Amino acid sequence: MNNSYIPRSNRAEWHITYTCNLKCTHCNRLSFLPTQTPDMSLNNAEEFCNQSNNLKWKPKIVIVGGEPTLHPQFFEFLKIAINFTGDSNEIEVWSNGYSAKSKKILEKVKDQQLAVVADGTIKNNGSIIQPANDLYLAPIDFGMNYRLPCWCHAKELCGISVDSIGYTLCASGGAIDSFLKKGLRTKNLLNLFNEDWAKQHTDDLCKLCGHALGISKEKENNSKIICGSRMSKTWIDAIQPLIK
Ligand code: SF4
Ligand code: SF4
Repeated sequence: MNNSYIPRSNRAEWHITYTCNLKCTHCNRLSFLPTQTPDMSLNNAEEFCNQSNNLKWKPKIVIVGGEPTLHPQFFEFLKIAINFTGDSNEIEVWSNGYSAKSKKILEKVKDQQLAVVADGTIKNNGSIIQPANDLYLAPIDFGMNYRLPCWCHAKELCGISVDSIGYTLCASGGAIDSFLKKGLRTKNLLNLFNEDWAKQHTDDLCKLCGHALGISKEKENNSKIICGSRMSKTWIDAIQPLIK
């Protein structure tokens, strides 16, 4: 087990909007709920690139959401990402490709080779039930004040999360922080590369998230289904007021 928590996946996931035209159950960005974080501005993207350049860190850029093609400046973000990476093969677009407009945008991205369009995120038939169903079961609600991060941490497979509020070490971290409002996003990219900061940040984030811990009887008994997803107290308290 690697005890370092700084980013190693060399990916940065730009959540240019958390708004989505689909409502998938168990969405790990909670895009079936009213958006809690404003869309990214082009300045947010430029700021990320500047800080990254200062650190001499050149991650692959994943343009994601929500549904990223809903952002009216989608192509401007792509331009900034191309200037940053210098190579459109180092940029991925993760879209649900559901609407006619999204399809058209993705065709243009492919035709002009502006980025790689990920096939795995396309949902031609609309909303789905995502397989991972334990994210909203906060370990702290079950007496666990600490847990190891899962593979969604940037020390493993996924990218860091980038959004209009800041950066986290887990790809879903910005979304988690959006709803639980713990102030865990930082505007200083350098923090993510500080071993002590990264460890504390990871501990603070992962004790709120049950992803990859599975669902036990105890969790079933002490949780509720909200919007089709199982949630424990920390999540229920945060989400219920939003859906009334
Ligand atoms: S399409 Fe993606 S972002 Fe939208 S609700 Fe489904 S999983 Fe979430
Ligand atoms: S916050 Fe959740 S999804 Fe992210 S690394 Fe921790 S356990 Fe995994």
